[in-house]
Amino acid sequence: MARFSTQREIISQIILGEGKHMTAEEIAMKAKKVNPKIGIATVYRNLNTLVEEGKIKKVRDNNQGFVYDSNNQPHYHFECTECGAMYDLPIKYNEKLDDVVRHELKLDVANHKTTFYGTCKKCLMMKEEDTWN
Ligand SMILES: [Zn+2]
Ligand SMILES: [Zn+2]
Repeated sequence: MARFSTQREIISQIILGEGKHMTAEEIAMKAKKVNPKIGIATVYRNLNTLVEEGKIKKVRDNNQGFVYDSNNQPHYHFECTECGAMYDLPIKYNEKLDDVVRHELKLDVANHKTTFYGTCKKCLMMKEEDTWN
């Protein structure tokens, strides 16, 4: 018989496997399908451990409070003000910005987070279709 996955393994497989931003509630819903005994408190506890270990990031999201991010490298986000979707932006992390704050303000900077707000491609395309109809 196959070994049962621990609750922790199930939760980390969901967030690391999906490769995107998920709320604790979304993760809990998927985890429950694998093991109905997994509750929201267990999900929060395990997500916090994964954040502490640096395997995932916790990101503030204007619509949903916090989302968990399986991309643990410093990167930029785009949040759509129409549909609320959050995307990773495939642009280079600007280390120079950290240096500016280090040198000009004499602060010990580890990294920075930036979220761009606007309309995502999907919503832009839907708007275009509307004007053609
Ligand atoms: Zn959108
Ligand atoms: Zn991200």
